[in-house]
Amino acid sequence: MPRTRRAVAAVRLALPLVLVAGGMSGCAASAQGSGSDDRPVVLTTFTVLADVAQNVAGDHLRVESITKVGAEIHGYEPTPRDIAKASEADLILDNGLNLESWFGQFVESVDVPHVVVSDGVEPLDITEDAYAGKPNPHAWMSPVNVQLYVDNMVDAFAELDPAHAADFETNGAAYQAELQKVQDELVTGLSALPENQRALVTCEGAFSYLARDAGLTEQYIWPVNAEQQATPQQITSAIEFVQANDVPAVFCESTVSDKPMQQVVEATGAAFGGTLYVDSLSAADGPVPTYLDLIRYDATTIVDALTGSES
Ligand SMILES: [Zn+2]
Repeated sequence: MPRTRRAVAAVRLALPLVLVAGGMSGCAASAQGSGSDDRPVVLTTFTVLADVAQNVAGDHLRVESITKVGAEIHGYEPTPRDIAKASEADLILDNGLNLESWFGQFVESVDVPHVVVSDGVEPLDITEDAYAGKPNPHAWMSPVNVQLYVDNMVDAFAELDPAHAADFETNGAAYQAELQKVQDELVTGLSALPENQRALVTCEGAFSYLARDAGLTEQYIWPVNAEQQATPQQITSAIEFVQANDVPAVFCESTVSDKPMQQVVEATGAAFGGTLYVDSLSAADGPVPTYLDLIRYDATTIVDALTGSES
């Protein structure tokens, strides 16, 4: 253990000492920063969870993501530094539903409590390939589900930091209201689509929950992007679906190569509707620095491309 602690201490020392001036109030201006403060540390497995958690935590907790912006999260391989960091955390949040295949071993190597934030979500099963019958992990692609994530975070944070339980409750309720707004916008926007265009064709099968909420038929090249190698058969079946349904536009996710989908575009004449964000937020100056941005961006991109409108 001494080696681990030294590594973390070195990281902390490398940071500017400006934050110390903020005192012990626990209200450091940079909530995502890792200055030397006394707030409990919450680690999440990926950036989407970190943003939601930060909204619930407010200034009371320090929230950080283990994986960085743009990372492939399904088959991530934790580094020794990740493990060092995790061993210093007070709570770890994971998505569950088999999203983080690396997480079981990871969490066993550190003695830190963890909470599965998708607890209570009604899972939708993957229907194809090796993953058939397993739950689709992308439950956060439904603002309705994320409201449950928030409930779980409010409970977990209240246990971690009871003095601020009322604030977590208030923050959570406010954020849930924002989530409901996005959900309503999504349903309204997509309901304008004609019946025969109500199909969402993407690279990864990451949109089952969003498609269910919005009344879209979901089609994808591969079910879960752990492999990222599209077979000719998978591409052919996507092409056939697009042709049979006269789908005007197809999409691909930001964390995978869109080459297989470009083949579908070439074969069918469908438009490439754009890049969708699922498994990671963008950098702060990118298009989707927060989860609310992400889900709004995707909804707008989908509606605009399928209806041929520009918003
Ligand atoms: Zn994914």
